[in-house]
Amino acid sequence: MTRHPPLLYWIRRDMRLSDHPGLAAAQQSGRPVIPVFVLDPETEDIGAAPKWRLEQAIAAFRERLRGIGSDLVLRRGKALDCLRALAEETGAGAVHWTRLYEPAAIARDSAVKAALRAAGLEAESHPGHLIFEPWAVAPKSGGDVYRVFTPYFRALEGIEPGPCLDAVEALAAPRDWPGTDALADWALGAGMRRGADVVAGHVEAGEPAAQAHLEAFLDAPVRDYAKGRDRLDLDRCSGLSPYLTWGEISAREAWHAAGRAARGGKRDGALAFRRELGWREFAWHLGYHTPELFEREWRAEWQGFPWRGESADAAAWRQGRTGEPLVDAAMREMYVTGRMHNRARMIVASHLTKHLLTDWRIGMRWFADCLIDWDPASNALGWQWVAGCGPDAAPYFRVFNPETQAEKFDPEGAYRARYLLGFEGSDDAVARSYFDAVPESWGLSPEDPLPERRVGLAEGRKRALAAYEAFKDGG
Ligand SMILES: Cc1cc2nc3c(=O)[nH]c(=O)nc-3n(C[C@H](O)[C@H](O)[C@H](O)COP(=O)(O)OP(=O)(O)OC[C@H]3O[C@@H](n4cnc5c(N)ncnc54)[C@H](O)[C@@H]3O)c2cc1C
Repeated sequence: MTRHPPLLYWIRRDMRLSDHPGLAAAQQSGRPVIPVFVLDPETEDIGAAPKWRLEQAIAAFRERLRGIGSDLVLRRGKALDCLRALAEETGAGAVHWTRLYEPAAIARDSAVKAALRAAGLEAESHPGHLIFEPWAVAPKSGGDVYRVFTPYFRALEGIEPGPCLDAVEALAAPRDWPGTDALADWALGAGMRRGADVVAGHVEAGEPAAQAHLEAFLDAPVRDYAKGRDRLDLDRCSGLSPYLTWGEISAREAWHAAGRAARGGKRDGALAFRRELGWREFAWHLGYHTPELFEREWRAEWQGFPWRGESADAAAWRQGRTGEPLVDAAMREMYVTGRMHNRARMIVASHLTKHLLTDWRIGMRWFADCLIDWDPASNALGWQWVAGCGPDAAPYFRVFNPETQAEKFDPEGAYRARYLLGFEGSDDAVARSYFDAVPESWGLSPEDPLPERRVGLAEGRKRALAAYEAFKDGG
């Protein structure tokens, strides 16, 4: 029997076997498949928390692959160099991967594709990171791309995403497995320092955990999701974001499962959940078509706004010590769990960019360093939306008031008590763990009193509106 040359599957943010179009195609090709993860300079460059979570994702996915008689080869270096070397070592004739859409990934992947093809190798990319490719949801009349969520989502709902693919159950192994780096040698969690031990208690990585999360969410919390998703003190959200970030579950699978829940009597919540999945699609759609989303004010009229740069206020915000209980509780939630409730993200982002008039990029980059569910497009869109300079943005005069937000969405103070030591009714263990998670260099102690407010809410709002009015008038 002739043996086909192997196919390298370059794994990135697609660490699953279910509904994986590229891996399913590789399986069907009948060729031996060598899954490989490359720690390239672009990946080395990501923030401390996502990098730590990446380590968990790699370890979990490697186990998953071993469970079907395959494995995950680890290599470190420039992607093209590693893939070429591996192809040479193994005699592979093809390299496939799942597409990513941020500008740096597109540039890298296009260069890799061109160089591999020039070297006579088959090089193919596949969909799978999103429900729809960023170019698939387009106005029927042609013309410009969607820039506003509601018409975008209406169009998206009118397209059939196709069924989920069965889980890959076996991948033909190569005759000999090539050498691999040891995951521990990469020390991907090093940047998290003390925080890793705290966050680890709140994280379960991998595809089976992702599936279990989705199932548990659609079993009950989804019923109350449409309203409950805004409540900080209730656990009504899916918690799927880190799994979607690393592709441990496909967004299409979540979409279809929500469709079944909607037909099964949980209509309101399930459709509201689908709408949020739509925001993730929209973020990538915009990031692809208007890549300025990632780095400068998306609305041209906002460019040149005199944001404040680094300051004692920005440092206090980062440390969860602004003196605004809801803002501080939310920032501490992030250090303790690696995540933050969506409403809390909006509130802390508003506080930084409006009450403290600080550049949204300072917040965006800090989130990119601290969130285990860091998603470049959703993060950029979220920050620009709140700051007022982004697509579909809240108007500039919409300044979240943390006190009224707390009354509505944390009415008994349970969320603040959970994360803010010293707040009335505070639960010691979780609130205290914040002090174990943050850098020692911050010099914080559980004995410190809660800080004073840095700026009055009315005063901060007035200052923000005045700055915008002055900018608009060119003064
Ligand atoms: C300033 C700011 C920064 C953000 N940064 C990120 C980020 O780095 N990574 C990230 O995944 N999300 C980000 N979001 C969006 C949102 O806060 C999270 O997706 C959500 O909190 C994740 O929790 P969940 O999985 O329980 O969400 P659920 O409410 O259960 O929603 C299900 C899924 O829908 C998607 N989704 C929900 N809300 C949004 C949204 N507003 N924008 C885009 N997608 C959404 C996510 O994939 C989420 O997992 C940000 C929002 C803001 C305001």
